[in-house]
Amino acid sequence: MTPLELAVLGLLGLMVGSFLNVCISRMPAGMSIVTPASRCPECATPLAWRDNVPVLSWLWLGGRCRACRAPISGRYPIVELATAGIFVLQGMVLDGSPLQDGGAAIVLASKLTFSALLVALLVTDLETFRLPNLLTYSGIAVGLAFSLVGPPGFVGSLAAVFVGGGVLLAIRQAWKLARNVDAMGLGDVKMLAMIGAFLGWPQVWLVMLLSSVGGAVVGVVLTLSGRGNMQTKLPFGVFLSLGALVSSLWGPHLIDWYLGSL
Ligand SMILES: [Zn+2]
Repeated sequence: MTPLELAVLGLLGLMVGSFLNVCISRMPAGMSIVTPASRCPECATPLAWRDNVPVLSWLWLGGRCRACRAPISGRYPIVELATAGIFVLQGMVLDGSPLQDGGAAIVLASKLTFSALLVALLVTDLETFRLPNLLTYSGIAVGLAFSLVGPPGFVGSLAAVFVGGGVLLAIRQAWKLARNVDAMGLGDVKMLAMIGAFLGWPQVWLVMLLSSVGGAVVGVVLTLSGRGNMQTKLPFGVFLSLGALVSSLWGPHLIDWYLGSL
């Protein structure tokens, strides 16, 4: 993609990130993501458009509400910048031009949708330990729909939904039988099914590998640094999300490299 096209993707990412912030704040509380319009969570003053410009408004207002001066979480600009960065990366790794090649346009649309879902799930899990069904179930449906017109193809997509969801469900049941604890929530099961719908087979395995290694490393670091123990509950959706983002960007290269190094 040309630098101009990448810049447009970056701007799109900022706007999508701004919408994701609304989803992240409202979905776990069961609130509508459409109404009311954006407002200060503290004093409920509706935001004027100039107070709702991604990143810039937050910087200009010094991270505070214009009306009541209550601090506004740094999560807002971080999510906007991260979404923009991921959108640009997806554009950079894309084969072909989405403006000239319909196939490339479909792949890009699928990857941007997937990235946005992963950002929303990552931050929601980090903040609330929840993975809203609205995101995971609709993500499975959208991923399957994209597979009808692009990679990984419907059969690969559907197989990965069942493998991704099935393997995690089996692990969860095994832990329940052996230790009588919930090793993970059902949200994680639905989330890996959603990841399978978008990435298909065999990438869903790569995501499982990356996220379990990531979770294990962080668990050990927390234990060694005295900030937790091996029973500390980690938001596994965060690791699934990061593993899926890496796989979505560089999965085929990683799989080639891994198979080549055997
Ligand atoms: Zn306020």
